[in-house]
Amino acid sequence: MKITNVESFVLHVPINPPITDAINVASHWGLAGVRIFTDEGFVGYGYTGTTANGDEMITDTIDRYYAPELIGKDPFMVKEIWDQLRFGKMHWIGRAGVTHMALAAVDIALWDIMAKASQKPLWQYLGGHKSKRIKAYNTNGGWLNWTKERLLKDVTDIVQQGFTGVKIKVGKPDPREDYDRVKAVRKAIGDEVIFMIDVNQQWNINTAMTWGKKLEEFDLYWLEEPLNPDDIMGHKKLADELNVPIALGEHVYSKYAFRDYIHQGAVEYCQVDVTRVAGVTEWLQVAGLAAAYDVPICPHVGDMGQIHQHLVATTSNAIMLEYIPWIRDIFIEPATVIDGFYILPQMPGASTEIIPSCFDKYRVR
Ligand SMILES: [Mg+2]
Repeated sequence: MKITNVESFVLHVPINPPITDAINVASHWGLAGVRIFTDEGFVGYGYTGTTANGDEMITDTIDRYYAPELIGKDPFMVKEIWDQLRFGKMHWIGRAGVTHMALAAVDIALWDIMAKASQKPLWQYLGGHKSKRIKAYNTNGGWLNWTKERLLKDVTDIVQQGFTGVKIKVGKPDPREDYDRVKAVRKAIGDEVIFMIDVNQQWNINTAMTWGKKLEEFDLYWLEEPLNPDDIMGHKKLADELNVPIALGEHVYSKYAFRDYIHQGAVEYCQVDVTRVAGVTEWLQVAGLAAAYDVPICPHVGDMGQIHQHLVATTSNAIMLEYIPWIRDIFIEPATVIDGFYILPQMPGASTEIIPSCFDKYRVR
């Protein structure tokens, strides 16, 4: 099989209502992506996720530097292609950020092609580990711009829908307000539901140490991204001192960075994101690394779960997957959660193929 054409795209899908966390404001979810065409008729779809900022830098990288390298290549040589793009012309300015996210889109499209050509959903093509469903936890009721009333209503609704895990955002200017919201949510959802909080890098080490300790009384399942994601030493201190486990990974770009986090005991739930670590190829390497340290994987869903449901289903140490349903309606086979569990996809491919009319509707580039 040979690649005959590469076409990038940017979609902006509205988020209603717009959301905030401690550092992001988002009214649309951006898909900076690529369609890769082959001489055998298979078309691969891949994308990375954005807050609808900077997508054009990602697709520029694909158009100018990756597409010319891809023409004529065999998609089944994905690992060689990954190395060629990773260590090619973009290496000087790359290795993380824009170029790495562009590589994610390309790599995901290639895995989509391989699974489609093999007539298997990606999770089976990779080797299945969970055959029917995977546990989901819901993040979509806990945004930082929600009033306390809306927060409590949403988390209660989520639990009534069958979810057994919820996550809310913290990182208000006054941590006492966070404490008050966390206390109220725990009371509303009861003791049985697993409950995570996400700081989105807003705290410094002293705030994290002080408020992390105070919040332990609410039996939190994890404390997510308390500090700057480059601060391995700070997270190691928190992991040592706090009784609540540390989760992170959505801003960690490579297996090398994960190696340092995991080897130093600075992360206790690994949230490696396929749209961040340059695709399925590197994601699987991080998952294997984490397995050797008995660190569970719970991916952050920059893809909104479409690809990660396959990856969790093929990975023995992946225990659960985040759920945010913002963009599910644009896909031919949308990620589907029933009674708090993702129901595994059955169509061949990586569940990345977009409905043509949605493609027209949301395309901005
Ligand atoms: Mg997060």
